[in-house]
Amino acid sequence: MTFNALIVEKDDEGKTSASVQAITEDRLPEGNVTVAVEYSTLNYKDGLCVGPGGGLVRTYPHVPGIDFSGTVETSDDARYSVGDKVVLTGWRVGEMHWGGYAQKARVNADWLVPLPDGLTTRQAMAVGTAGFTAMLAVMALEDHGLKTGNGEVLVTGAAGGVGSVATAILAARGHDVAAVTGRPEQADYLKSLGATRIVAREEINETVKRPLEAETWAGCVDAVGGDMLARVLGQMKYGASVAAVGLAGGAGLPATVIPFLLRGVNLLGIDSVMQPYANRVRAWEAIAKDLPMDKLEAMVKPATLADVPDLGRAILKGGVRGRVVVDVN
Ligand code: NDP
Repeated sequence: MTFNALIVEKDDEGKTSASVQAITEDRLPEGNVTVAVEYSTLNYKDGLCVGPGGGLVRTYPHVPGIDFSGTVETSDDARYSVGDKVVLTGWRVGEMHWGGYAQKARVNADWLVPLPDGLTTRQAMAVGTAGFTAMLAVMALEDHGLKTGNGEVLVTGAAGGVGSVATAILAARGHDVAAVTGRPEQADYLKSLGATRIVAREEINETVKRPLEAETWAGCVDAVGGDMLARVLGQMKYGASVAAVGLAGGAGLPATVIPFLLRGVNLLGIDSVMQPYANRVRAWEAIAKDLPMDKLEAMVKPATLADVPDLGRAILKGGVRGRVVVDVN
């Protein structure tokens, strides 16, 4: 019995290529749970792992896909039984370990979470790592004092995966959302997700000239990093927090410490990959409760395994809107 998988191979010159191939189960890596995958998705990291690897993939041939949802097919772990619906994000699956761009995946049971009540396997992948991380960021801001009525919350890289879900969650939780985008044509889309103000990327993407500017934002979910994050730090209200999620605009942070010292600004690091189990479950429950499913559906672009290589190239250029859902079957 064979099943389909998107296999990335590397040639002698170090060039990678990806193609859908029929393979047998004995090629799956070690693990104590085998899942019949139903859906996967596309994150920025998947763009790297489907293409040149970005230093994340160690061995080839490789099956990327950092997220998947599906049904347990075999399990040697007491926590999961045949037929259970499960979700996986992170734990370096799709990077170090074969991932979700296949009709079957074999993983360690510790990496799975049960599909949250109220979500389908497709909706879970419309959320995926990007949406899960957006919820971790919003929870971190609220745990550090963000309340409705404090003022506008900024979302950077807003038309991307993390940004789209963060915008929808913040709006659904009653916050005023200002969305930063480099794609003005996405303004109506961002407003449909709940943004009340659109900020042009070039307005905020400049090198810091003054360490403190007008106190403008009550919170920020930042998917961009680099100059934009540095600039935003100087625009935060007194005591407000920025959740640093991504580096779509660069890994540097050309900032001063003045916003921390004079305004008590907090910079909160958000990691989805090694996030402990209890907080994973908390975030997924909050997603099922607070993310409006009609808004989630409006973000979705459906795709197949064969579409993934092209979409991977597009996401690395900031050219994918919202969330891609990959139906692996
Ligand atoms: P997307 O590509 O979907 O979104 C990124 C968005 O950032 C783009 O859509 C674009 O938004 C904006 N952007 C792209 N390039 C630039 C640039 N040069 N300058 C300013 N803005 C830019 O990716 P994801 O949403 O999947 O991921 C976003 C980031 O978060 C990535 O860096 C990713 O690695 C990181 N990430 C981190 C996680 C963690 O655990 N910490 C988990 C998930 C993601 P627009 O067109 O609206 O301006």
